[in-house]
Amino acid sequence: MSLLVRDVLSGRLVEVGQDGKVGLYVCGPTVYNHIHIGNARGPLFWDVVARYLRSQGYQVTFIQNITDIDDKIINRANEEGVSWEQIVRRYTYSFHERLKMLRVGFPDVEPRATQHIPEMISLIQELIEKGYAYSPDNGDVYYDVASYPRYGQLSKQRPDEMRETERGVTGYKKSPLDFTLWKASKPGEPSWESPWGPGRPGWHIECSAMVEKHLPDGADIHGGGTDLRFPHHENELAQSAGAHPDRTFVRAWAHHGMITLASGKMAKSLGNILDVKRAVELHGRNALRMWFLQGHYSQPIAYSEEILEEKKRSYERLQNLYARIAGSTSSSDLDGSLLVELRERFDAAMRDDFNTPEAIAALFEAARRAGQEISTHPNSMREFAGLKKAFEELLGGVLGFELSEDQMVYVPSIPGEERFGETTVMLDPGPEVKEKVDRREQARQQKDWTTADQLRDELRAEGWSIEDTPEGPVLIRR
Ligand SMILES: [Zn+2]
Repeated sequence: MSLLVRDVLSGRLVEVGQDGKVGLYVCGPTVYNHIHIGNARGPLFWDVVARYLRSQGYQVTFIQNITDIDDKIINRANEEGVSWEQIVRRYTYSFHERLKMLRVGFPDVEPRATQHIPEMISLIQELIEKGYAYSPDNGDVYYDVASYPRYGQLSKQRPDEMRETERGVTGYKKSPLDFTLWKASKPGEPSWESPWGPGRPGWHIECSAMVEKHLPDGADIHGGGTDLRFPHHENELAQSAGAHPDRTFVRAWAHHGMITLASGKMAKSLGNILDVKRAVELHGRNALRMWFLQGHYSQPIAYSEEILEEKKRSYERLQNLYARIAGSTSSSDLDGSLLVELRERFDAAMRDDFNTPEAIAALFEAARRAGQEISTHPNSMREFAGLKKAFEELLGGVLGFELSEDQMVYVPSIPGEERFGETTVMLDPGPEVKEKVDRREQARQQKDWTTADQLRDELRAEGWSIEDTPEGPVLIRR
């Protein structure tokens, strides 16, 4: 089965990995602040893709860089009166900690911009030699956009319609569209020696140099947010295609959508509530993962507390369906056909531009049918061993969710009685549901079966089933 990715440049589905190898380059963070939840979408999604491809036997090289020199880093250091290296260390550590909180795996290589200065200098020299770049006498080097007729191909813009890409040093540029490849440093700023004097690289040349160094045959997939399409990726392409027209730089450009709020694109100024740490505390990492993966990567996804609550319920339902399968001794030949259908549908979805929402839908469907089977033949002997294993591989191993063979339950407390102990209370269904459970218990004790049944139906409609155990009621996410 072929592996297809929708390439932003051509607009077509492009086949990659025909030789069993996939080189993936993703633009990582500029480390000057804690990442917010929107910044986590790329690392989480591409980690899932890498896990999927490895599970299919592909040899994957996953590169995700860190931009460790930038005006933002220098400004932050100046504001705090610390060294720029301290800022880099602090926020690289913070980035890694936040990936761990979300259970996001690390790339195979995490190149740092400052470790690739010689490669960047030689790429800039090649661009100057080939007439794509110029160095005025201020120590900067600029890309000459007018020299590259295909400029604008990725972002589908015509150069004469573009806004200025970089403001500030326009005085030395031939055109306001020309962008900086090398920036002369001011006294006291971090700098590296170069043929144009001491300075530091521009952001765009960093990624061109790191892609070419770590994926010499070109990147099969180049990822990054839609906000990087222009100017960052447009400029990467102009640099690498200009310097090396005979090499493939990228086979498929794949951009993930932004996180939106009611009022537009998520910005860092929105503060703590959307910080990764805060989001994990508020919603749990599995709910966040469900939220990211139940939308197609190329589309924006909307954030609200209600949406995240819904995603949490969605995860709990799938987890409990898994626990039912894991705990079942149902005998049925459904296992075999269900398993084949599940794996086929899951693979077809993932190989068609990494359609994770469809892959998750396949798991829900298989779990739902297995659940029906378990309810119909509750006393038979064979287990859904194959299906259980498939869930562990696909839902746990590839999609990265945490799975437990125990159902997630809410155990209401009964005044004056010891129940299962605090540890079994895994879910908090919220005050309204708890109140209904309490009222139903009172009704049962008063033998008011009509009210008790009515409340049971209401809870059922809200996604909960109640099991009346000898120790009292237990609430299970349906
Ligand atoms: Zn980049």
